[in-house]
Amino acid sequence: MDNFEQLGLIEALNQAIAKEGYTTPTPIQAQTIPAVLEGRDCLGIAQTGTGKTAAFALPILDRLSRDGRKATANRPLALILAPTRELAIQISGSFSTYGQNLRLRCACVFGGVSQVPQVSQLRRGSEILVATPGRLLDLMNQGHVDLSSLQIFVLDEADRMLDMGFLPDIQRIIAKLPKQKQSLFFSATMPPDIVDLTRQLLHDPITVNVAPKQVSVTQIDQQLLFVERGERQDILRQLLSLEEVERAIVFTRTKRGASVVCDRLRRTGITAAVIHGNKSQSARQQALESFRNREVSVLVATDIAARGIDIDGISHVINFDLPVDAESYVHRIGRTGRAGADGIALSFCTDDEYDTLRSIEKLLGRTIPSMNARPTGANAAQGSGQAGRSGQPGRSGQAGRSGRPGQGNGASRGGRPGSSGPRKRSGFAGSGSSR
Ligand code: AMP
Repeated sequence: MDNFEQLGLIEALNQAIAKEGYTTPTPIQAQTIPAVLEGRDCLGIAQTGTGKTAAFALPILDRLSRDGRKATANRPLALILAPTRELAIQISGSFSTYGQNLRLRCACVFGGVSQVPQVSQLRRGSEILVATPGRLLDLMNQGHVDLSSLQIFVLDEADRMLDMGFLPDIQRIIAKLPKQKQSLFFSATMPPDIVDLTRQLLHDPITVNVAPKQVSVTQIDQQLLFVERGERQDILRQLLSLEEVERAIVFTRTKRGASVVCDRLRRTGITAAVIHGNKSQSARQQALESFRNREVSVLVATDIAARGIDIDGISHVINFDLPVDAESYVHRIGRTGRAGADGIALSFCTDDEYDTLRSIEKLLGRTIPSMNARPTGANAAQGSGQAGRSGQPGRSGQAGRSGRPGQGNGASRGGRPGSSGPRKRSGFAGSGSSR
């Protein structure tokens, strides 16, 4: 499938797509859109970054627009359930963008804020409703949402919903859906609870399985820095003070770690916000907004909280901790280098993270270039084909390069060959990188 015209969407949608600059449907779009247009149920095993929002939004807009049926007060025709407020807002924004030439209304409801404007939006009648489960149930219980006219139901990021404890809420919502409807189900992974849910919800679905988008990774300049645990905060501060760091996301493994890192950065005068699962919805939204509108230049985040965030112009992703699973690494670094832009992803690696590093490099199929000498313990296991490779031809001997970005400090790192010299790096962005 080379172009959107072949998908058979209405012209108003093709125009909006062209305006967005999309030329070719992504694999999930090419496979899902025709089936959804035919009225089939769909199981999409895919994560954010694959273009899955458009994969369901475009055929839904197409279907509702062709039908020409208008929603009456509080009775949406399509419902999209999303796990977080950020994602709900993003999805609703996508519906507005793709549906800009159509007369369909989209309401978005989520918790943590007053329900009053949401209720009046619903009362005016919205064909499309994007919602998080908790607030939707509240509004349903109060009689502000009636799902009896629903034609299309989308459950997005189902595995994450389960992670966040939404299964009972989802079950309650599903119980209120009309029997006759089209259901679309998206999940990055398929644990047993999710499989059960798909059996309950989907009838003869087409299954579309899309691997996480790898292309972005090739545009991202990946670098490693072998560090001691206790020196990470100080190095982070120095990195973030560099002029070329316009907008950075710093990933930590734990929620507490994210808060600590953010507080310490703030104390040194770096503008930073934090986003993780223990923060209230409004605090998360505020953090995201301040990052989006550039009030703060650094967002400290955990994996779950950051999933689905799509912000342009992120110049750097810094892994303060390496993620536990290798796929999250790809996901994290994909936050930068979006839309064809170059991005830099720098990962700290402490000596207790070598195993994790090895599994990441195995998934990537290459060794990540390091800014300082690679300790022997961090080399790939013999036989995996990677030992001793640096990921870049002709530069396997990295010893001798200073490990301190942009500072050329003399900090000595005992026992790490080549990392103690006070040589100045020619800059964090660029040298020591592969393109
Ligand atoms: P999603 O997986 O829905 O979060 O989409 C990830 C990103 O890809 C978003 O920034 C979309 O705007 C973008 N996108 C979606 N479909 C296409 C396409 N066919 N061509 C180019 N970019 C796209």
